[in-house]
Amino acid sequence: MKIIDIVVPAYNEVESIPAFHKEVQAVAETLPDYRFEYIFVDDGSSDGTRELLCKMAAADDCIKYISFSRNFGKEAAIHAGLSHAYGDMVILMDADLQHPPALIPEMVRTVDIEGYGACGAKRHPKLSSRMFAGLNNKMSSVKLQKGATDYMCMSRAFVDAVLKLAETQRFTKGLFAWVGFKVKWLDYVQNPREHGKSRWSLRKLFLYATDGLTAFSVVPLRLLTIIGAIVSLLAFIYIIVTLVKTIICGIDVPGYVTTLCAVLFLGGIILLGMGILGDYIGRIYLESKKRPLYILEETNIEKPDEQGKR
Ligand code: UDP
Ligand code: MG
Repeated sequence: MKIIDIVVPAYNEVESIPAFHKEVQAVAETLPDYRFEYIFVDDGSSDGTRELLCKMAAADDCIKYISFSRNFGKEAAIHAGLSHAYGDMVILMDADLQHPPALIPEMVRTVDIEGYGACGAKRHPKLSSRMFAGLNNKMSSVKLQKGATDYMCMSRAFVDAVLKLAETQRFTKGLFAWVGFKVKWLDYVQNPREHGKSRWSLRKLFLYATDGLTAFSVVPLRLLTIIGAIVSLLAFIYIIVTLVKTIICGIDVPGYVTTLCAVLFLGGIILLGMGILGDYIGRIYLESKKRPLYILEETNIEKPDEQGKR
């Protein structure tokens, strides 16, 4: 019997988890050829999620949980879940039931019978998501699917490939695209969240998007070189023109405005360039520390892998 691991990152989801488990279990029972196991990753919740998971795990040996010492973020939780999943397939789902469990049978069929590397769910992309994916796909060789979510059923090979990517700053959507494989996308309509609130603000989305760009592409650096080249060329032409004009007509006006414009414009470009450079240097700095992705505080998995390493 093939085993399917359901990996669920959960941050303060004590209200959602019982309903989530019930609904997914109802779908799982329609697939008697597979054994479903749950790996809940409590990402440092403070609302009793850990205690709930501990209780649920004691009552049902298909339920495993991992609990972090603090909130390390969803990307770390996903990595922890994936690296503790030993099933033939892994399904990654949010705990808030925004990812409809009804898609599971088709996802499993796509991966197990049709032989796809993974089957993901995508929803109608919001403007921000379309813009981000469009910009990313222009700049990076890793192409993102518009409207793609983390709700995905992955084959063993896909999971192993994702786990081979050892970077500590993980942009999961990009990693999933980077590993390649044939991926089928199912459309779905997202339910609103019933309990708690979403962690996304506009500011976080912006940071996430720039993170995604710098994580997978050095095109911003190349753009800087190009902008620098264009500005130098324009400046050079302007210098020649001004020189010729000065020689022919003599010096007419003091040139206060042109000087000011040039200084401000170049100042802006230099600062922008420093910002972009700084972004990459910051990434190198963080990556070079080689800190573990998370600290595992409690789990019912017998031999949990050593903190984030496999
Ligand atoms: N989550 C997490 N760690 C965090 C934030 C969120 O593990 O720091 C989990 C959360 O419990 C949920 C999933 O990630 O299961 C998606 O989070 P959310 O619903 O807030 O995001 P959205 O659906 O708005 O993208
Ligand atoms: Mg959600």
